[in-house]
Amino acid sequence: MSQPTSNGTAPSKIALKLGNLPSKKPLKIIGPRTPSRVTPNQPPWPSYRGYHEYSFAHATMGHRLPTILGKAIDDVVKTLNEQHEEEKIVDLEACIQRMEALMGDLTSKADLRPIVDDGEGDIPLWNKALARYFRGQNFINAPWVFAEAYKYRRLHECFSISKYWQDYDVFFRQKCDTFSRSDKAVFELSMRFHEPFKHREGLSDTEKLEAERLVFHELTQVCLWGNATDLSLLINMSEEDIKKLQSTGGEHLAATEKNILGNHIGRLWEIVRDLRGNTGGRVDFVLDNAGFELYCDCVYADFLIQSGLAKTIHFHGKRFAWFVSDVTRKDWDWLLNMMVYGDLFKNASDAELESLRRLGKRWKQYVAEGKWIYEQHPFWCTGYTFFTLPEEAPDLFLHLSRSDLVLFKGDLNHRKLTYDCHAPASTPFEESIGPMASTAGAPKICSLRTIKSDVVVGLESDEVAENLDKEKPGWKISGEYAVILVSEGRPAEEVFFA
Ligand SMILES: [Mg+2]
Repeated sequence: MSQPTSNGTAPSKIALKLGNLPSKKPLKIIGPRTPSRVTPNQPPWPSYRGYHEYSFAHATMGHRLPTILGKAIDDVVKTLNEQHEEEKIVDLEACIQRMEALMGDLTSKADLRPIVDDGEGDIPLWNKALARYFRGQNFINAPWVFAEAYKYRRLHECFSISKYWQDYDVFFRQKCDTFSRSDKAVFELSMRFHEPFKHREGLSDTEKLEAERLVFHELTQVCLWGNATDLSLLINMSEEDIKKLQSTGGEHLAATEKNILGNHIGRLWEIVRDLRGNTGGRVDFVLDNAGFELYCDCVYADFLIQSGLAKTIHFHGKRFAWFVSDVTRKDWDWLLNMMVYGDLFKNASDAELESLRRLGKRWKQYVAEGKWIYEQHPFWCTGYTFFTLPEEAPDLFLHLSRSDLVLFKGDLNHRKLTYDCHAPASTPFEESIGPMASTAGAPKICSLRTIKSDVVVGLESDEVAENLDKEKPGWKISGEYAVILVSEGRPAEEVFFA
């Protein structure tokens, strides 16, 4: 309440004049938050959130996610129209209603509520995080990486609590369809790699190693650019654009190598070269997308086995439909079986189809022999970043610590490695991934990522990013630029949980 002045009248509103004070300056953040103050809601550097209009987070939360969800509803309606049993139809109808409720929550900025217990192993992880760090937050003001992951978990919940449709994947049709339209690049690789890798006669050991290095160099890039095909990001892309991104020809690779802005491929080769002699050779792939990218990952993994550089490969996928095109076990099985038994490519020659069959048979043989192992830990489908992996999923951390090299594929894994926050572009990769580099037992890590969102680290200088901001607006979301970043970890040390 305002007090009367001495002459009895109420004081007029006093406008504070600040003309003599220094003018406001943009706040330049000079260092990361101290580790003890870092939480999922407060990353080391300011996090990207849906209300940041300058960021891709804003476009995603406001436009991209509702579009993806709308398409997903169309897919379920299509399935519903193909059913004949009333009980199943009614059950699926209820799934659609839950999807519509989710759409309402997404567009009305509803608070993030706990996930309904559907028996999945990730439920306690989700609901603990929601209670502890995100109470009262919504899709727009929660950190983008958490909010986006939450949306995909809620989408899974629409089906997981049903009676007949628990494993339904709203994106399965899209994933298969995109692979079947990647024929040119698929056969480009199968025609080269259907024969097991062999050295030419009469090479010295040094020449053999150099031959392996050259194949490794090109296949690493195939594996990297295979990541450009991400269905959640291609909603506005034409067929031609996709084919261009998938091109695996040598000239194209040479031209795109200059677009790898932080490039540790030399260090990566040194790690892989030493696998054979040093450690027994286990390599892990933390996968990103199904279809063409998974196919490229497998070609790469096949070479690592054929050359004798690695003995076993562990592939880590998702337990359910995730960020549209991520690999699930169903996608994994589909790819290998389709290569051997399928008839997807109507215009392919007999030789091309045979090359694909041989490749598929060899890969299935690796699975049968335990050289290739497919896994799906619940932690990969949570909203937690990998800063919390040692603490929230100690079993997974211990498992990864036994690997000689963990390859993280793609944009989402990169966002989770780096806490998806506004670190300067020159931040060294090892600093930006925190505990995944600094914890005792942390494995050697490589992030193979085509850049499709705001966070960029590991560049030589901030100017590289600043110049691209000026000259190439949209460079952070086009998928035309990439990074290959390595962290040496602390693999020799024993894992210790406090
Ligand atoms: Mg993905």
